[in-house]
This record gives sequence, C-alpha cells and structure tokens, in this order.
Amino acid sequence: MALHRIGIIGLGKIAQDQHLPSIRGNPDFELLAVSSQRGLTHEDAQHTFTDWRDLLKLPELEAVSICTPPQVRHEIARAALLAGKSVLLEKPPAATLSELQDLKLLGERVGKTVYTTWHAQHNRGVDEARAALAGQTITRLLVTWKEDVRHWHPGQEWIWQAGGFGVFDPGINALSIVTRIMPEPVFVTKSDLQFPSNRDAPIAADLVFTSSQGGDLKAVFDWRQTGPQSWDIEIDTQEGRRLKLSGGGSRLEIDGRVVVDEKAEEYEGIYARFDELLNTGRSEVDDAPFRLVADAFMIGRRIAVEAFDD
Ligand code: NAP
Repeated sequence: MALHRIGIIGLGKIAQDQHLPSIRGNPDFELLAVSSQRGLTHEDAQHTFTDWRDLLKLPELEAVSICTPPQVRHEIARAALLAGKSVLLEKPPAATLSELQDLKLLGERVGKTVYTTWHAQHNRGVDEARAALAGQTITRLLVTWKEDVRHWHPGQEWIWQAGGFGVFDPGINALSIVTRIMPEPVFVTKSDLQFPSNRDAPIAADLVFTSSQGGDLKAVFDWRQTGPQSWDIEIDTQEGRRLKLSGGGSRLEIDGRVVVDEKAEEYEGIYARFDELLNTGRSEVDDAPFRLVADAFMIGRRIAVEAFDD
C-alpha cells in the first residue's frame, strides 16, 4: 500500500515521547511536516510550521496526528478534514461529545478517516481480559487509578482548566479499558468530584456504576498519589473467575496466574491501526469512554478540597 505522508500538530510531551518514535519506526508512514507554536522541529520532518493552518496547505499531506490539548482539537480537526486530510485524534478526542459527533459526520461527508485513539486499549492484556470475560457475569469491578500529577503532568496548565478534564485525563484511559473488556455496558450512577478550590478541573473522582448484570462496580481516580503509582483494574465474576489488570493494562493475572506481562507497545498499535484505516478508507470513532466521562461530569457532585499548586 502507498506510504502515508503525515504531519504532527503540537510537539508536546506525547508527540515527542510516542508519536515521533512510532512514526519513525513504522515503514508505512513518512513524517512530512510538524507544526509547533513554540517553533520546535524534528530532524525527520521535511517541513516545519508554527501555524498548523500552513501545514494543512501541503498538497501531498494525507493525514495529521493532532497532539494538542483537547480544548482545541475540534477546530484543528475540522479544518484538517475540510482541507482533505484524514485525522488521528489523541485522547480525549475533543472537548465535548457534540464536537466529536461533528467530526464523525464531517469525516463521512468529506470521505476522510477519523480515528479516535485510546492508547490503553492497545495492550495484549486488554484483549486477553476481554476474551476471558466474554459470556461471564461480573460481580465486582474496582478501578484504582492513582498517580502523582506533579510527576506526570509538570507545568501543564491546560489540564486544570475547564475542558482539560483534570484527573479524567488519565482516568479516561482506565475507562477505555473498562468499555473494551466488560461484557455489558456500564452506566455511571454516582460521581463525587473533588475540585481544588483554585482549579476548574477535578483532582480526584469516585464513581459508582451499574450494568444490566448488577454487581459492585466502582472506580477511584486520584492525582495526589506519591510513592507507588496504581493503574489497576480488578474484576470478579459469578462463574468464579478473578482478573487483575495492572500497569495500565500491560500485566494481566487470571485466578492468580500471570497470563500477560510485557512492555506496552501502545503507540505502535495505534499507528498499525491507522494504517489499516487509511488503506481501507474507513473511520473508527469510539466514543464510549468519552461518554462515561461526560456522564460523570453531568451527574457529578462537586466537592471543594484544598487548593493545589504544581
Ligand atoms: P503538552 O505536553 O502540554 O503538549 C501539548 C502541545 O500542544 C503543546 O506543547 C503545544 O505544542 C501544543 N498546543 C498547546 N496549545 C495549543 C493550541 N492552542 N493550538 C495548537 N497547539 C497547541 O500535553 P501532552 O501531555 O502532550 O498531551 C497532549 C494530548 O495527548 C492530551 O490530550 C493528552 O491527554 C494526550 N496524552 C498525553 C499523554 C502523556 O503521557 N502526556 C499520554 C497519552 C495521551 P507546540 O508548542 O509544539 O505547538
């Protein structure tokens, strides 16, 4: 299949840590251009811009990876699609559900690929967990996603702004695993959101879910965790199966036996999937994790907690 000439918009942490090396390592892609407001560049890129609108004018550009904060993703993705470019959307795919729906419909209208990436889903442990839970009745789900925001998001002001999602920025990764592996959909029935008094986004959240199968289903997200970090999902089934996914999905235990324990190659998986979608002219718009976050905010109880500074 033809080589995909791709551009990256926003050369922040995730673009540098994952997108640039994954594109370099995938022979189906060629980095044609990057756009960085701060004027950063990359040795692989043939063109560098400070305004993403100029990048979109390149006629030979097929697609863009939009690695900005979510608040500006819709405007950029819309312009890209209208310029005839396919779009890879970092998570969260937009700022609101309506924006994402607009991109899905626009992609269909202009005949270009729209791909919502959920990097945590690209772990073999997640696929194995999904297979192990198929046809089972879930009696207990406990998601524990606790990390140190100062370590993982140093100086990122946008995550604390309204529309930056706060602790749901990592929490949505857990929810993207939940929506992938649970045999029946879950619904948020209770949501306690802790907002630092000086911030417009939550630092912690406690969620309770229900599903048609019933069960004791919960998630705890906290950004104030120092020391060991927790990215764990525990599940018990009525049939007696006990699963533990840890390390963000990279390690899976079933009934106490380690089934998967391997280095995550999430972004390699993302670009392999994007290649398939571009080659077949299809889109993949999975809004299930995003809907759960929207629901958590919609029915959320706001609890003020002490001010938090980086
Ligand atoms: P970041 O380090 O703050 O990088 C975002 C970059 O986007 C900025 O450095 C800036 O790059 C560009 N940007 C900012 N505001 C912009 C605007 N108004 N218009 C155009 N470009 C703008 O954030 P990040 O951690 O890379 O996160 C970016 C996205 O990836 C988020 O949605 C996040 O949830 C997701 N993500 C992050 C991680 C992670 O580990 N950090 C993991 C997975 C997914 P330039 O100055 O170069 O333009």
